[in-house]
Amino acid sequence: MRKADNPPGPAGQSSVEFLIVGGGIMGLWAAVHAERLGIKTLLVDSARLGSGASGGLLGALMPHMPDKWSEKKQFQFDALVALEGDIAALEAATGLSAGYRRSGRLIPLPKPHLRKIALGHSQDAETHWHHGERRFHWQVLDAAPVDGWIDPVAGESGFVFDALAARVAPRALVKTLVAFLGEAEHVRLVEGMEIESIDPDGGVATTREGSIHFGRCILSAGHRSFPILDGLTPGRHSTLGQPVKGQAALLKADIDAGLPVIFRDGLYIVPHEGGRVAVGSTSENRFGDPASTDGQLDDLLAAARTMAPVLADAEVVERWAGLRPKAIDRDPMVGAHPDHPRLIALTGGFKVSFGLAHRLAEVAVREAAEIPCSFKLPQGFALSNHIVAASHKT
Ligand SMILES: Cc1cc2nc3c(=O)[nH]c(=O)nc-3n(C[C@H](O)[C@H](O)[C@H](O)COP(=O)(O)OP(=O)(O)OC[C@H]3O[C@@H](n4cnc5c(N)ncnc54)[C@H](O)[C@@H]3O)c2cc1C
Repeated sequence: MRKADNPPGPAGQSSVEFLIVGGGIMGLWAAVHAERLGIKTLLVDSARLGSGASGGLLGALMPHMPDKWSEKKQFQFDALVALEGDIAALEAATGLSAGYRRSGRLIPLPKPHLRKIALGHSQDAETHWHHGERRFHWQVLDAAPVDGWIDPVAGESGFVFDALAARVAPRALVKTLVAFLGEAEHVRLVEGMEIESIDPDGGVATTREGSIHFGRCILSAGHRSFPILDGLTPGRHSTLGQPVKGQAALLKADIDAGLPVIFRDGLYIVPHEGGRVAVGSTSENRFGDPASTDGQLDDLLAAARTMAPVLADAEVVERWAGLRPKAIDRDPMVGAHPDHPRLIALTGGFKVSFGLAHRLAEVAVREAAEIPCSFKLPQGFALSNHIVAASHKT
């Protein structure tokens, strides 16, 4: 990876059009868009690129339910459809694989009333899940479409097969983005540099090594964006967001990498390339050690082995935990700060960042550069909207 040609030294200063704070999935996509627009950009990460929540194992790209359609669901649908081509372009440019595959999702239906609801969703998908000539179905089936994967007993009332869902290997995608940016003309990447304070109106960020002058600052520091934004936003009743811990594991299993993701009640079983299957995730609002794994992960693993008996003896090759950024209104948090317009938020992807980051980042970068975007951010995702929510909630 390239380091900055002129990183700020002890007495040094650096000046860029865009400063991107945080090199997780959000910041890296922002850097890709800045590069494409020819904007002189510095991306800094206090640790290694992709070592935050984005360095995990799961990479499930799950659409929202197709009922109660809204602008948020349309935005996510369009993003999930576009991601396939966006990743293919990165792979073509770098020669790397991001481990993407639209392998679909299987949802067991253990009770008759769930089948009735699923049949309704099937109609909703026919209405909403299409893009040009492409249609994605939400099929209700009596039996799973593949043998030897999900336990037939799990679906007493049948199974849903959702053809829109996909998966990507989080670390492989990060590596692909970093490789693409390593060849960039306008973007420089710096690891191990913490932004200690940001003065958005003065256009200055400070680090231990010196200060960085910027035209615009894109704040993509994951959950650590929230205290920075809180500090810039007086008069709130509550914080703008919080970290939510998640635990996951990686199993070694000799199975077809094209098998669909299995999902039920927060349990994800995600087949990846190279004989790996990810299992997740816990969702913990309160936690002690952010990096530890414990019995809650053991319970998930036991549930996964029951749901997919082929995994009964699969070896656990990694246990992992990370902190998701959950914004106060649960939705992504994107856009210029209403009182400090040179600061642009790009965080709050919570459980769905991997399916949205490419599009959220494009909106953020284009807003920062004052260049129109061909698609619109849902109003609920705007930072200004979250600030209003934080002003009301106690
Ligand atoms: C167990 C688990 C399973 C998950 N499964 C899925 C899934 O299947 N699908 C999905 O879409 N999402 C999933 N997620 C959520 C997803 O991982 C996160 O929403 C996403 O990674 C957040 O990306 P980010 O770029 O906003 O933050 P991060 O990846 O956390 O990146 C923030 C970066 O900012 C840097 N930083 C912080 N402060 C500073 C500072 N002051 N100066 C410089 N750098 C700084 C950090 O070092 C870090 O690298 C999961 C999360 C967990 C924990």
